[in-house]
Amino acid sequence: MTVQASPSARLLEGAPIAAEIRARVASDVAEFAGAHGRPPGLAVVVCGRSAPSMVYLERILKACAAVGIESQFVDVPGDDSAAQSAQLTAALHRLNADSSVSGIIVQMPLPPGIGLRVVVDAIDPLKDIDGIHPLNAGLLRLGYEGFVPATAHAALEMLEHSGVTIPGAEAVVIGRSPVVGMPVAFMLVKGGATVTVCHTKTRDLAAHTRRADIVIAAAGRPGLITGAMLKPGAVVIDVGINVVDGRIVGDVDFESAREVAAAITPVPGGVGPLTNALLLAHVVRAAQRQAVERTAAPGVGGAS
Ligand code: NAP
Repeated sequence: MTVQASPSARLLEGAPIAAEIRARVASDVAEFAGAHGRPPGLAVVVCGRSAPSMVYLERILKACAAVGIESQFVDVPGDDSAAQSAQLTAALHRLNADSSVSGIIVQMPLPPGIGLRVVVDAIDPLKDIDGIHPLNAGLLRLGYEGFVPATAHAALEMLEHSGVTIPGAEAVVIGRSPVVGMPVAFMLVKGGATVTVCHTKTRDLAAHTRRADIVIAAAGRPGLITGAMLKPGAVVIDVGINVVDGRIVGDVDFESAREVAAAITPVPGGVGPLTNALLLAHVVRAAQRQAVERTAAPGVGGAS
C-alpha cells in the first residue's frame, strides 16, 4: 500500500514582502528628508494604556526609527470618558496643526465610553493614514485614491504580491467592520472579484466559503474557518488575531485548512508584519501629499 503525502498549501509569509516595503520606505524617507529638510513624522495616540496597546506602540515606534521616520507617542490618560474624549479631540487638533506630523494613528479599540466618532470628527483626513475618516472611506467606496486602512491594504497586497488572480475570482470576506471587512470587500470589488461579505447573520457560512477562490477571514473568532469549509485550491488570507491559551492564533484552523488550500497566511507572521510596513508607507505618502499642498498654497498648514 502506498501512503500518499497530503498536499500542503503554499505559505504566504508577510516578513519578506514587509522587508521589501520597508527598504523602499527607507529610501523614500531619505529622499523626502533631503528635499524638505526633515523626515516624515508619525504620531501614535494611545487612549488609556493597556498591555497589548503598549506592545503595539513599541513595535511601531521601533519600525519608524528603523526607516528614519520621526515618531512620537501621545498619551491620553484618564478614566473619565467625557474628559478623555475632550483631551483626545484637543490632542488631534494639535497634531493636525503641527506640520512636523505627517500621519496620525489612534490606537484601537478605544476605551469603552469613547466613540470612534470622536476621532472621526477631529482627525485631519490628509493625516488619517489608517483610513478611518469618512472622506477616505468615501474615496475608497467611489474607487478613488485615499488612505485605506493598513490591515485591509495588507490583505490585498498579500494577494497581489503572491500572484493571486483577483479579476473574475469568487471572493468571500468574513467580517463587515468598517476597518477591516468592508474596506477589503471594496478593494476586491475594485480589483474585479465577485465578492460576498459574511457576518454573524449569515445563514450558512460554509456554503459561501466552499465556493470561494479567495477567502478573507476577519471575524476575530479562533478556528471559525476549517479545511472542510474550503474549496480545494482556495487562497486563504487570515486577518484574525486572537489570543488562545497565551498563543496568538487567527480565525482559520490552520492545520485542517492547509491540507485543502493552495495558499494560506500563517498567524502570526502573515498579514500582521505587512500591516506595519504599509503603515510606514502611508506616512511617507501623507508627507509627500502635504508637501505638494504646501507648495500649492504657501502659508497653509503651518510654517516651514
Ligand atoms: P470587529 O469589529 O469585531 O468585526 C468582526 C466582524 O466579524 C463583524 O462584522 C462580525 O459580524 C463578524 N463575525 C464575528 N463572528 C462571526 C461569525 N461567527 N461568523 C461570521 N461573521 C462573524 O473586528 P475587526 O476590527 O474587523 O477585526 C477583525 C479581526 O482582525 C480581529 O481578530 C482583529 O484582531 C484582527 N485585526 C488584525 C489586524 C492585523 O494587522 N492583522 C489589524 C486589525 C484587526 P457582525 O457585523 O454581524 O457582528
